[in-house]
Amino acid sequence: MVNPPRIDLDACQGHGRCYHLAPAIFRPADEVGHAEVIPGVEITDRDRPALDRAVAACPEMAIDWDAGPTS
Ligand code: SF4
Repeated sequence: MVNPPRIDLDACQGHGRCYHLAPAIFRPADEVGHAEVIPGVEITDRDRPALDRAVAACPEMAIDWDAGPTS
C-alpha cells in the first residue's frame, strides 16, 4: 500500500496536469479545474510512476506526497 497524496488547495491553480497524467488518482473538483484526490482511491506500486509524473508536473508544487519505501 502506498501513501495517498494530498493537494494544497490554497496552492492549486487548476492547471489540470495532475488529473491528465494520473486520472486514476486525481480528478477535477470544480468548474475552474482545481484538483482533488479521488475519494477512497487505493494507490498501489503500479500507480507510482503516474503519481511521480503528476507531482513533478504540478507547476504550483501543490501535491504533497510521501512516497514511502518501495516494496
Ligand atoms: S497540476 Fe497542480 S495546480 Fe494543477 S490542478 Fe493539479 S494540483 Fe492543481
